[in-house]
Amino acid sequence: MTITIDSNAGFCWGVVRTVEIAEQYLDSEGPLYVLGHVIHNPDEIKRLGDKGLTSVSVADLDRLAEEGAQKVLVRAHGEPPSTYKKALELGIEIIDATCPVVTKLQERVRKFYDQGYQVVLFGKKDHAEVIGVRGVCRDECIVVHDVEEALQNVHFDKLTVLFSQTTMDRPTFLQIREALEERVHELIVDSHENIATEFHAKDTICGQVSGREDKLAAFARSQDAMVFIAGRASSNGKVLYDVCRAANPNTHFIEHIIELQNDWLHDMKNVGISGATSTPHWLMNELKDEIAHRVEIGLIRGE
Ligand code: SF4
Repeated sequence: MTITIDSNAGFCWGVVRTVEIAEQYLDSEGPLYVLGHVIHNPDEIKRLGDKGLTSVSVADLDRLAEEGAQKVLVRAHGEPPSTYKKALELGIEIIDATCPVVTKLQERVRKFYDQGYQVVLFGKKDHAEVIGVRGVCRDECIVVHDVEEALQNVHFDKLTVLFSQTTMDRPTFLQIREALEERVHELIVDSHENIATEFHAKDTICGQVSGREDKLAAFARSQDAMVFIAGRASSNGKVLYDVCRAANPNTHFIEHIIELQNDWLHDMKNVGISGATSTPHWLMNELKDEIAHRVEIGLIRGE
């Protein structure tokens, strides 16, 4: 059996940056708090937790200030402006590891919102990144998950702009864009009144996710079976797993190595391993070693 790790898998640069900022602090200054989980991967959370990184929520900030905490890390997903304000009021310094791609999205949303646009965001309402973006426009943006939701909730007689959470899938974004464009166009054509409607769409899906899709599909097709390892809370993990499974139906999702089932891989000649942009390389290497070990001791039947 040949076991190959997808050469394009591993942390995206935004996550590498966040982990580096956290580790530099932990190594030089000692324990640190982070708002939310630093990354959507339980094993990496544990590794950093062992070095002194503790997850807290915004609701904990008052208590932390009372206990004398001076600094808190903001992860790659970013935070709404209210978090920065609260930290400032409490005298807690923010170490800002927001991914620059997310910061750019927030800036774009702010610009259109300030100009009076109805902001539509293709994303998951309660995802941390979306909570940050919602905060930028006083929670007045319309978050939609598919075309149906967009058609139900968007007001077509308003100036409208469509953006995307950075880790959503491009085909659905394009469907939503097309549906909204059509509807706004119909309104302009049919109307006998002067309705000041206008529609803009900006694809703000991160290239680290969309750029990987074609390469991942090609890799998955070249394998007899695929094991995709990622945190279940990872948004891009879900997107990339779907890409992988569409390219190779013999794809299996696990969050922890212990979930690996031997019968998935019996008699397979080529087994591929891939993961989300938050799956660390060391975890994929451990998975590779585990599969090789099980083949060696006969738990997995080699081809
Ligand atoms: S997937 Fe893109 S937006 Fe998200 S953290 Fe990575 S680089 Fe940043």
